[in-house]
Amino acid sequence: MIDTFDLLVKTNFPSIKRTDLETLQVNLGYLCNQQCLHCHVDASPRRKEIMTAETVADVLRFIEHRKIKTLDLTGGAPEMNPQFFSLVSQARNMGVHVIDRCNLTVLLEPGFEDTAAFLADNKVEVVASMPCYLEENVDAQRGKGVFHQSIEGLRLLNKHGYGIADDLQLNLVYNPQGIDLPPSQDVLEPAYKKELKQRFDIEFNHLYTITNMPIKRFGSTLVSKGLFEEYMQLLKTSYSNDNLPGVMCRTTLSVDWQGYIFDCDFNQMLGLPAGHSQEKTHIIDVIDSELKGDDIAIMDHCYGCTAGFGSSCGGALI
Ligand code: SF4
Ligand code: SF4
Repeated sequence: MIDTFDLLVKTNFPSIKRTDLETLQVNLGYLCNQQCLHCHVDASPRRKEIMTAETVADVLRFIEHRKIKTLDLTGGAPEMNPQFFSLVSQARNMGVHVIDRCNLTVLLEPGFEDTAAFLADNKVEVVASMPCYLEENVDAQRGKGVFHQSIEGLRLLNKHGYGIADDLQLNLVYNPQGIDLPPSQDVLEPAYKKELKQRFDIEFNHLYTITNMPIKRFGSTLVSKGLFEEYMQLLKTSYSNDNLPGVMCRTTLSVDWQGYIFDCDFNQMLGLPAGHSQEKTHIIDVIDSELKGDDIAIMDHCYGCTAGFGSSCGGALI
């Protein structure tokens, strides 16, 4: 895989600072039952890096001490970390809103059959990847057979009340197939709702459109196809200053599987420590730190968050 870090270091992206910390986004590891083309984590069934019980305890200590409102769990497939279930239960007992970034197919894997019921019992918000409502596009991006398994995963979640009951939020994530920016979220969401309802009788709450980042597997694909410069030009010429106040790194802290902090999940994958520091910092070492007003580590990939309608883990920004 071609590393795009050196191509992104030199930047004229505006400097940005942290505001109040609201969300802790925790990567529980790189193990995943899938191996998608656009994956910025480079996750796969072969990855061994997963968060230990000791680091999970550090995360819970930080959440309690800092009164974090939202715990956003990602991976890999976060459910494949054996600590997932206890972390979710303990965070929910503290009254924390928990988000599971679920790839849907994991819900059908042997040994994970009870996961959908567990998520529903704990009122966990599910955010699920569904890059298209057409089989050929999903399978091309996420692997053969993934579309039908994803539909089965969505049916299972609907069966447990997701996308139907008010307190069981099911939100889907769209990302472009190639080197385009996502279309308007407000236009695409009704089209998704209509197609998924008519074809498969599936219900969901919201569609989040997310821009592909020129890093890791997607970045490498861009370089090997000679499209990296063209894609960066697109991100830069589509820059919108209106998106800058809403970039997620201002209110979110990202934690890797070893407990080190980063300004966002993308910076984590680039190995770019929080606040431009030279060394990585452990979450326990900032448990009493202010963080508000700290510089955010930026590089050229940040244009992926501000291009077009903007992009974040919660979808478009404007
Ligand atoms: S994009 Fe998600 S489902 Fe696909 S390999 Fe990466 S972590 Fe797994
Ligand atoms: S890539 Fe990360 S650091 Fe850069 S603007 Fe987006 S969220 Fe912030």
